[in-house]
Amino acid sequence: MSSSSSSDIVKVVVVGASYAGGAAAQAIAKIQAQGSYKIQVTLVERRDHFMHAVGSLHATVDSKFAPNIFIPIDRIFAAESGKKDSKDLHDDDHHHVIKQGRTLTEVHPHHIVLDDGCKIEFDYLVLATGSSVAAPAKTVSATREDGIIELEGYRNAIEQATKILIVGGGAVGVELAGEIAAKYNEYGSKSKTSWSDKNKKEITLVHNGEHLMPGNFGSALGEDLKRKLENYGVKVFLKEKLALPQGGNDDNADDSSSTAAATAIKVGSRMNKPVIVKSQNGTEFETDLILLAVGNKVNSGYLKTLYQSSSTSGALVDSKTNQILVKDTMQLDDQAFPHIFSVGDVNNYPYTEKYAFKAGLQGETAAKNIEILIYAGYHTKSKLNSNGRDEANGSALLKNIKLKAASTFPSNTAMVPIGPYHGSAQLFGFNVTGCIGDFLVKVTKGKDLFVSKYQKLFGYSGHELATA
Ligand SMILES: Cc1cc2nc3c(=O)[nH]c(=O)nc-3n(C[C@H](O)[C@H](O)[C@H](O)COP(=O)(O)OP(=O)(O)OC[C@H]3O[C@@H](n4cnc5c(N)ncnc54)[C@H](O)[C@@H]3O)c2cc1C
Repeated sequence: MSSSSSSDIVKVVVVGASYAGGAAAQAIAKIQAQGSYKIQVTLVERRDHFMHAVGSLHATVDSKFAPNIFIPIDRIFAAESGKKDSKDLHDDDHHHVIKQGRTLTEVHPHHIVLDDGCKIEFDYLVLATGSSVAAPAKTVSATREDGIIELEGYRNAIEQATKILIVGGGAVGVELAGEIAAKYNEYGSKSKTSWSDKNKKEITLVHNGEHLMPGNFGSALGEDLKRKLENYGVKVFLKEKLALPQGGNDDNADDSSSTAAATAIKVGSRMNKPVIVKSQNGTEFETDLILLAVGNKVNSGYLKTLYQSSSTSGALVDSKTNQILVKDTMQLDDQAFPHIFSVGDVNNYPYTEKYAFKAGLQGETAAKNIEILIYAGYHTKSKLNSNGRDEANGSALLKNIKLKAASTFPSNTAMVPIGPYHGSAQLFGFNVTGCIGDFLVKVTKGKDLFVSKYQKLFGYSGHELATA
């Protein structure tokens, strides 16, 4: 069945049910609720849940908190319609579809293909497949149940380890070191040299840059965070690059791995006896648990088929980063695809240090622009004839449509917790450090880590998900 044959239904497919895709899917479902058009949203997600990465590092050390960050996606449209869960939807309402546990493998100009071979046609498509980073920052499990168990594995490894080596001094590495330190060490323990307390962890954070928090952040933020970590007894090493055997092929770790102990080194699980890892400078680190906080990978491989199956002349992804190239309207930066959008971590929108709240704003922008296109009738004007779309007709229409640009919220804003009680921030370039930083991060982020906000987005409340 072609997408245009069911002429009164506009088919919108969103891939990725996280900060960006979740916001887009809900906002598009709202258009349906308010407008006269019939819109069917199909949400495709390779997991059965949304993994709230913002809370993952606290969840790594706190078993009670952990179930909160694995939020089922089954209520996302029910939440929109005000009903309790998808079972309560009447036939009339039940036109939105959730394809969970399904991975997008191919994109074509007017349909996508999933890993089970399922072909889904669309009038508009939103690609919100984000990025992957080593666990525990982002888990890999497809089911909520397995995700909770996966995180528990890291929790147990941390509990049993004595010398923990964290690789990467961006926000993830700093926050991970802070969470572990806040659980096992005392604040103000910097001066203590003895590690005789059996629960205390010797935590080492190794970073290849000149200061913690690289990117758009100046050195002051990194120095304040370093001080706070050291107050918890964390040893911070800057300008050091490690040689690791696997999973470490990134900016902070060198894949060549010629260290004598390399074959015995495992990343992410506790080793029976401590090993020595050497940096390129020759510095030796003894460790029985290595955790990676580096190696962000953008999930855009499926786009190859769009490139191959279309008449597009330019590249669709950045050849270095694999990020999808977009305009400020969140449409692909290619005139052949005004109906395909990409939002969140997976795109190259320049005003992004990649953040959850910006991903959400971009999802809303894409939804707004899809609404504008729908109401202008783009999908009908560019409808299929027997050979394909009448692109010329669609292009003429596009010239008269003004779409919305995504937020250019400054990149130099971040709040980095060091456990529940400490942290530092940079707001629009201004550093909020010392005890004011502690206070700000604690009240805005430290305790809840925005769990309630995102559980509400997906139709749940914290109380319901507190137990696995
Ligand atoms: C530890 C940690 C802490 C963070 N803290 C903060 C913070 O405090 N504040 C902040 O603003 N940001 C924070 N971030 C950044 C934030 O998490 C990201 O910017 C955000 O996850 C981006 O959202 P997204 O929706 O674009 O992509 P993602 O969250 O990566 O989601 C992509 C979704 O697409 C799915 N998917 C991927 N490929 C496919 C496919 N082929 N088929 C189907 N589904 C697919 C994935 O399963 C996933 O659900 C943090 C990140 C980490 C790792």
